[in-house]
Amino acid sequence: MFSAIDMAPRDPILGITEAFNADQNPAKINLGVGVYYDDNGKVPLLSCVQKAEEILIAAPAPRTYLPIEGLAAYDKAVQELVFGADSAVIQEKRAVTVQAIGGTGALKIGADFLKRFAPDAEVYISDPSWENHRALFESAGFKVNNYAYFDAATHGVNFAGMLADLKAMPRGSIVLLHACCHNPTGADLTSAQWTEVIAAVTAGGLVPFLDMAYQGFGAGIDEDGAVVRRFADAGGPLLVSNSFSKSFSLYGERVGALSVVAASGEEAARLMSQLKRVVRTNYSNPPVHGGKVVATVLTTPELRKLWEDELAGMRVRIKEMREAFVVKLQAKGHDFAFVRDQIGMFSYSGLSKAQVEELRAQSIYAVDTGRICVAALNSRNIDIVIDAIAKVL
Ligand code: PMP
Repeated sequence: MFSAIDMAPRDPILGITEAFNADQNPAKINLGVGVYYDDNGKVPLLSCVQKAEEILIAAPAPRTYLPIEGLAAYDKAVQELVFGADSAVIQEKRAVTVQAIGGTGALKIGADFLKRFAPDAEVYISDPSWENHRALFESAGFKVNNYAYFDAATHGVNFAGMLADLKAMPRGSIVLLHACCHNPTGADLTSAQWTEVIAAVTAGGLVPFLDMAYQGFGAGIDEDGAVVRRFADAGGPLLVSNSFSKSFSLYGERVGALSVVAASGEEAARLMSQLKRVVRTNYSNPPVHGGKVVATVLTTPELRKLWEDELAGMRVRIKEMREAFVVKLQAKGHDFAFVRDQIGMFSYSGLSKAQVEELRAQSIYAVDTGRICVAALNSRNIDIVIDAIAKVL
């Protein structure tokens, strides 16, 4: 029965990693990744995580199943982080949160849930978007369309195009928005532009699904979460997926959550019962360890302070790399000032596919679209990268 099955297409980003791993050049550099590296080129193990694990090891617990919706302390802490502890949607018990298997798991639970109750709606994602968005919603059975987003000419957002597309969407359409640190472009909306987007989404009767995979990597934890809070205040249905893969450097522990905002506490209880059904039929209940680590950090004041400091350190280092990138290319006569304005881990550098291929010949790996991971630059590799880019320009 398997003989007629075709080979699935390769994941473009994992393909870069494979080519990178096969490269024998010891000076090779991988800017194609979606991971934060420290200045030594290592994925950090945060001190707040280590300290939380010490606390957990000191009080060993049996590994029973978690509830379907996950660890209660985790769900509560996530809700407060995402919506703000004093949020009306929390006080009015209108928000429900389920622990999820990373941000990807949260998106998948959200997509399956929406398909059940809005089977005829279509989904709109930004052009371009994280490449898994389309695949995830298509695999849940949705037709997925693009809305205008990136403007290659300005290296920023084509806001007029985006707004026009939002206004043309049929009522009930599901619109996926990056809450902060847009992946892959690094181009975010301004606060004033978000005001217009929220108004268009509300007036158009659209269902906003905010994906927040990089809270704390933009301007700060609260600043990056502000968009979620503004949508929650606007009323109407809202879904929010969030991830701790990057902000806690807990990639492999798969810690994320899906939150849904309802019109009333009574509606929220019904939504929760249905979310649990989706989880139950996907993987029954989430894993314990990562959720416990994150909940411990978020609810222990010293550890929370440590996390906020460590996250600020990552955010500042990325900004320093953006600045160095711009200044060093400027010194070679190339204007990349837009990289300074972009935000988060990624930058659409404007390098063409041909230029990316030329870089690869110098053992520097980036995505064909020109996306580079700024968080993979460090004080030791940046000059090599700048020289190589100057050579291909
Ligand atoms: N959304 C976006 C925009 C992302 O960039 C990512 C991760 N690269 C995810 C969701 C998924 O996060 P996770 O790795 O926690 O599944």
